[in-house]
Amino acid sequence: MIQIYNTLTAKKQDFVPIKEGHVSMYVCGPTVYNFIHIGNARPMIVFDTVRRYFTYCGYDVNYVSNFTDVDDKIIKEAIEEGSTAEEISKRYIAECKKDMASIGVMPATTHPQATQEIDGMIDMIQSLIDKGYAYAVDDGTVYYRIRKFDRYGELSHKNIDDLEGGHRSIFTNGEDQKEDPLDFVLWKPKKEGEPYWVSPWCEGRPGWHIECSVMAKRYLGDTIDIHAGGEDLIFPHHENEIAQSEAANGCKFANYWMHNAFLNINNRKMSKSLGNFFTVREILDKYEGRVLRFFMLSAHYRSPLNFSDELMESAKASMERIITCESAVLDRCGKVIEKADLSAAGEETVKALTGFKDAFCAAMDDDFNTADALAAVFDLVRYINTNIASASDADAAAMNGMLHELTQVLGLDIEPAVEQADAEIDALIEERQAARKAKDFVKADAIRDQLKAKGIILEDTKDGVKWKRA
Ligand code: AMP
Ligand code: ZN
Repeated sequence: MIQIYNTLTAKKQDFVPIKEGHVSMYVCGPTVYNFIHIGNARPMIVFDTVRRYFTYCGYDVNYVSNFTDVDDKIIKEAIEEGSTAEEISKRYIAECKKDMASIGVMPATTHPQATQEIDGMIDMIQSLIDKGYAYAVDDGTVYYRIRKFDRYGELSHKNIDDLEGGHRSIFTNGEDQKEDPLDFVLWKPKKEGEPYWVSPWCEGRPGWHIECSVMAKRYLGDTIDIHAGGEDLIFPHHENEIAQSEAANGCKFANYWMHNAFLNINNRKMSKSLGNFFTVREILDKYEGRVLRFFMLSAHYRSPLNFSDELMESAKASMERIITCESAVLDRCGKVIEKADLSAAGEETVKALTGFKDAFCAAMDDDFNTADALAAVFDLVRYINTNIASASDADAAAMNGMLHELTQVLGLDIEPAVEQADAEIDALIEERQAARKAKDFVKADAIRDQLKAKGIILEDTKDGVKWKRA
């Protein structure tokens, strides 16, 4: 039985799906105004792994993760660059998808975009106004009336009166048409030069919180199994989503709320605003995507994780141990076997492999404890290293299957192929350098084109020729 720590109840609970055999899951995605940083990659990797484990356990997972493609930061970036918000978000959605692929994050079942869902947002806001949960003020701004929603504060375990104390100053910020300092924006009027949509209240754009309520409803239904995101989203974003969805739909919004802890640097949250971040792209210049993924999975998702060169180097070494084991498996069996078939294996082997798998599943069942699941993978690796050479064909095949089965649940690519490919590229570059030296420019250009066709871009630097993947 899978157990999940539910932020709403502050307890680990058995996972009971709404519909047997199905999981509906919504994960708040990034605001796309720049390359994502590795802090943003943490929820992506963690919840992709949750999804993979549910799938492994036989569930059909409907996984929805949005892109916030209209927002102050995107508009600011567009103005600075002299382009449009649409151009900026389109570019960084494409870049984000490339990063996701590099770190083994599968595309969601649906990746909705806020700007494509405006009609649904206008409908939900109207229904909130009709039911008395929202109100429009003179300039066309629509606010959510939090005092009307009894359960406000339930997710973040906060008391409204305590919260009010901290928000008094809002009244001095020109938002004095609000009935209550905690009331939040559902719709706001456009400013000069900003993207806008026509609505019953004014030409303007939606607030941030409403988009997730609307997309979750449209793609997953009024009540969903799991809603997830980073812990900074608990308040106010997820609290506000609950207030919107439950008031509009008249039923519970999400049964389980999962939140990952921060990726820190020097024990402070990595964030764009603090400037203490590395983009996924920067890290991928130095490490393979699977090393970054391993690093993220080496801690429990609810524990803070401090980024450091030492931990990345240790993740790299650990990943290499698994890849070396995979090389031995491939030498012995000649091919990858995706799933373990224990039916023909010997009794001892079945017992050992079942033990590793049970330990792996027990760790994952316990609120997705990937750190302990990795420990089970290393026990398996050690066992394979000791036994594969002398194993019977059926036993070797079973080991092969188990190694792939378990590492795939974690989304870890263990194939040595990437390194071989790198070596091949290095060899071609050397060949091209030799051709250039021999003034055989036709051959040198042909090799450059051949590499280009493989998506490899060459750069002549003062330290020699460097290459990167396009
Ligand atoms: P944002 O684009 O800032 O809305 O963030 C997208 C997702 O990344 C959200 O789920 C955030 O909670 C999460 N996130 C942002 N920074 C970090 C961090 N340093 N560690 C973990 N998660 C983060
Ligand atoms: Zn959200």
